[in-house]
Amino acid sequence: MIALAYRASISNQREYRRCIGVNRLLGLLVADTEYPELYGFDWNCPHCGVAVHLKVRKQIKNPDSVEDWYSFCICECPRRGCLGVVFVKFDNNNNRIRAAYPYPGTSEQHFPDSIPSRIRTDMAEAVRAFAADCHKSVVVMCRRALQNIALDKKIPRAEIKEQIKQMQMAGLITKPLSDAAQEIRHFGGFGAHPQEDILDETTETDALKVFRQLDQIVRNIYVMPAETKELAKRRQGIQQKPGSKS
Ligand SMILES: [Zn+2]
Repeated sequence: MIALAYRASISNQREYRRCIGVNRLLGLLVADTEYPELYGFDWNCPHCGVAVHLKVRKQIKNPDSVEDWYSFCICECPRRGCLGVVFVKFDNNNNRIRAAYPYPGTSEQHFPDSIPSRIRTDMAEAVRAFAADCHKSVVVMCRRALQNIALDKKIPRAEIKEQIKQMQMAGLITKPLSDAAQEIRHFGGFGAHPQEDILDETTETDALKVFRQLDQIVRNIYVMPAETKELAKRRQGIQQKPGSKS
């Protein structure tokens, strides 16, 4: 019994850490992950990204008597255009979803449209890899996203180290962002090619930091200019209205 409880608590801790990890990863992200206080089966559908009340299709009582307040459910998004299936671990004591798969923010439509599709796809795959504890895959995906940025910005084909320098020279990124990009390149390389030392291991923290560096770069190159443009458009619209003071 004790062993069972111990095993349950270990697996629970691992799952808890993973949920927290994914939320931390998404927390400072361009993806929309602001969760209000959620009750019952309220959730952000991981397929369509809309806040919904999931429809429960099947509910199974937890066979583990130590944690019998949990149940496992197969749910469905109620939106007619979506109907995506979500697997839920439900906490009956607190009347709320404890964990759900797929994780939110793991598909490209959860990132702003201002980011080119190929880059969003790489970022979403990095988030999925993080959710599955595949930290080497996260850093490799981040490096790939960086290469896709160079491609999108028509930086001549070369070693990625050179392409980053050219991006800085072209004024696309500042010196700190260029340094960040070089670190993404290094860690992505460690993830992709076996190393003989401690760098062979990519930790969760490494993956988290590398992803956040990439996020900063993407935010600067794509998201910020798009938002600035929107603001300018809105201001000009107001100023052009008759009677408005400029
Ligand atoms: Zn949906």
